[in-house]
Amino acid sequence: MHMDSPSPEKCEIVIVGAGLAGYAAALALAGTGAEIVVLDRATDSSGGAAHPDPRTTALSPSSFKMLTCLDVLSACQEVPTPIAAMRITEASSVPKWPGGLLNFENANDGDALAYMVRNRDLLGAFAEVSKDISNISIRKGQTVTDMEQTPNGMQLTVNDHQMICDLVIACDGRQSLVRDFLGTRIIKRDYHRAALVADFSHSLPHDNLARQIFRTNGPMACLPLGKSPNGQHVSSLVWVEKTKTAKSLSSLSQERFSYALSEQLDGALGDIKVSDTPHFFPLSLMLAENYAAPHAVLLGDAAHVIHPLAGQGYNLTLRDAAMLAEHVFDAKMVGLKACDLSVTEGYQLSRRVDVFAMAGLTDGLNNLFGTSFPPLSWLRHAGLALVNNALPNQAKHMGQRYADRGTSPLPRLLRGRRLTG
Ligand SMILES: Cc1cc2nc3c(=O)[nH]c(=O)nc-3n(C[C@H](O)[C@H](O)[C@H](O)COP(=O)(O)OP(=O)(O)OC[C@H]3O[C@@H](n4cnc5c(N)ncnc54)[C@H](O)[C@@H]3O)c2cc1C
Repeated sequence: MHMDSPSPEKCEIVIVGAGLAGYAAALALAGTGAEIVVLDRATDSSGGAAHPDPRTTALSPSSFKMLTCLDVLSACQEVPTPIAAMRITEASSVPKWPGGLLNFENANDGDALAYMVRNRDLLGAFAEVSKDISNISIRKGQTVTDMEQTPNGMQLTVNDHQMICDLVIACDGRQSLVRDFLGTRIIKRDYHRAALVADFSHSLPHDNLARQIFRTNGPMACLPLGKSPNGQHVSSLVWVEKTKTAKSLSSLSQERFSYALSEQLDGALGDIKVSDTPHFFPLSLMLAENYAAPHAVLLGDAAHVIHPLAGQGYNLTLRDAAMLAEHVFDAKMVGLKACDLSVTEGYQLSRRVDVFAMAGLTDGLNNLFGTSFPPLSWLRHAGLALVNNALPNQAKHMGQRYADRGTSPLPRLLRGRRLTG
């Protein structure tokens, strides 16, 4: 504790982590009128072109509505790219049933299936928007090193001083220290796979089509982005491979990697060139057993890390943030504190079912498509053909609707409505 400031600094809500989860939580909660402090150990995590995260995010229509209503998307440098359709196929090396592929096209309500944004652009926009909001204070270079529950709230040791708050929100990522301090157990499974992520340019247009190829070693996704400054078509690659193979691929020269990618795509996008060495992300499933404790909740990767094959990890996070904000707003309207049991328990109840359902779905798809045992792969392929040809569009749209909205009723922000409005 600091010698000449023995009493801890009092705050209403402290968010640990100013990544995509922490910023989303801060902006969602700002509408409740709570005083919010966001801490991050990084001295600069404000995104922009120089930020190292090469990933892109496919925002579902309700995530898109939420970030539009929070003014984040209008602060992005690039206009989000709509995904008009999605084509799911299997690699040519897998035994096939004729016609086995699945097509999704956008629903008739004018929404795209999803919208592509770059993570660093999103982070930059979050930083830009939050600096003008008076009840959000972003503090960089602040590491939380200890935490203790007290009768007056949660006490945090941050660098060399103490803070005490009604509610701490863990947004400190998959290795969350806050989660450890709370003693929350996690369910963890290593997929023994890694994702290679890179942008690449291609000579043929992507036509706003997202392509997902299922291969025995892991899926590969090519997600449409806008054009490069010199007018070339650009897509984002997420290529999942066995960890060892992914390591070897990531050490190839850009030229050889581009060649390896062209072979996988079988000419689908014409001549291909990656614009950078691919980044390597080890994949695992991590689910916290509880999302709430007295004076604390978990949100984002601190609460759940799922397989990226359905591009749903951050969409779950936005649903966490919108639902938490809704509970805090309702509690404050009737004079309760942000740490009231109705908030923490209500949040946990509404989020666990949705997250476990989505984690089960992505894990199941990964297992189903990760087998090359012929009878199974034939059955799977026949299943895809059957779903594509026999299921009416309405049923496919119901699946999309579930992926977009989850299992609980939609909170206001995900319907594009401000809490204060
Ligand atoms: C290959 C890949 C592709 C993906 N694609 C998609 C997609 O298409 N769609 C989708 O919805 N999701 C996707 N995801 C998931 C998504 O990228 C993540 O869920 C999201 O980036 C996690 O953000 P976060 O803020 O929870 O964690 P992080 O980005 O890890 O942020 C944690 C922050 O906490 C700070 N911090 C940590 N410890 C402390 C401490 N003790 N004190 C202070 N600060 C601390 C860190 O500095 C950091 O800024 C993908 C994931 C992967 C791996």
